[in-house]
Amino acid sequence: MATTTLLERHEPVAPRDLEAEIRRLKSDLNAVILAHFYQDSEIQDLADFIGDSLQLSQRAARADADVIVFAGVHFMAETAKILNPTRQVLLPDLKAGCSLADSCPPHLFKPFREQYADHLVINYINCSAEIKAMSDIICTSSNAEKIINQIPPEQPIIFGPDRNLGNYLMKKTGRSLRLWQGTCIVHETFSEQKLLRLKFRHPQAKVLAHPECEERVLRNADYIGSTTGLLNYVKQSSDREFIIATEPGIIHQMEKACPEKVFIPAPSEGSCACNQCPHMRLNTLEKLYLCMKNRAPEIVMDEDLRLRALRPIQRMLEMS
Ligand code: SF4
Repeated sequence: MATTTLLERHEPVAPRDLEAEIRRLKSDLNAVILAHFYQDSEIQDLADFIGDSLQLSQRAARADADVIVFAGVHFMAETAKILNPTRQVLLPDLKAGCSLADSCPPHLFKPFREQYADHLVINYINCSAEIKAMSDIICTSSNAEKIINQIPPEQPIIFGPDRNLGNYLMKKTGRSLRLWQGTCIVHETFSEQKLLRLKFRHPQAKVLAHPECEERVLRNADYIGSTTGLLNYVKQSSDREFIIATEPGIIHQMEKACPEKVFIPAPSEGSCACNQCPHMRLNTLEKLYLCMKNRAPEIVMDEDLRLRALRPIQRMLEMS
C-alpha cells in the first residue's frame, strides 16, 4: 500500500514576494515545478512545465532535477514517483485527491477484475497506485482511443474508472468495454439545460467538452477531446467564441494563447462554482512555497507496489 509522509508546519508565512521566494527555492533545491492545466493561474505562471496527465507523466519520467514539485493532485504526483523514483517528489497539499480515483477503491476493484479474469484491464491514469498495479495498461484521455485500437478485437476489455470516458470510447472505437462505474465530480456537474440556454445567447460559440463529461453534455459538443486537445483546437480554430466544458483552469492557457478570443465556462447545475475541481484548488501559492521550504509533504512509496504500478504505465508510454 502507498504510504506518504507529511510534515505539517503551521508557521505563518511572512508577507513577502512568494513568487521570488519560490524561484529562489527552485534554484537552491535544483527543483522543477510541474503544473496541471487545472491549477490556479498564478501557479501555472510559475511552473517550468504545464500540461495534461500524459504530458506531465512524460515530463516527470525524464526530469533530471533533484526535486519534482508537482502542482496537481495526489495520483499525478504518485505517477511521477513511480516513473522517476530517485527524485524527491513534493505535493503542496497531500489532501489534494481526486473523486474519480476515490470512486475506484482497490478492495472493490480486485473482485471485479477477478470476476472477468479473461479481460485485459485498461485503466485511466486517474486512479491510485494500487489500481494501476492491478492494470495491464494505463491510458489518458489523449491516448485511450489509440491504445484500445491496438488491442486485438477478440480480446475483451475492462475499462475504468471513468464510465463517461468509457462510454465515449465505446462509441469511438466500436468496441464493447466492461465499464467500472466511476465518475469525476467536476465533469458530471455540467447542466445541459443551462448549456443550451448559453448556446442560444451565444449562437456563434463552439462547445468544447472533455470526454469525462456526461453524455447529455457530450451530445451538444462541437469538439470532444483531452485538455490538450481542447487547447490545440482553440489555437487552430478560426472561430472566436468558445464554451468550455471542463475544469475552467484550462481557460488561462487558452486566453494566453488566443487573447483575441472569448472563452465561457460551461455552467454547472445549481449556483455554485462546482466546475472548479476542489482537489486541484487545494494547492495555493503559499502551500507551493511551504512545501519547497519544508521539503514536505513528500510522496513515498513501497518499492514492490511502485514496480507493479510502473509496468502498465510503461506499456502506455510505449503504445502512445
Ligand atoms: S477534475 Fe475530476 S478527475 Fe480531475 S482531479 Fe479533479 S476530481 Fe479528479
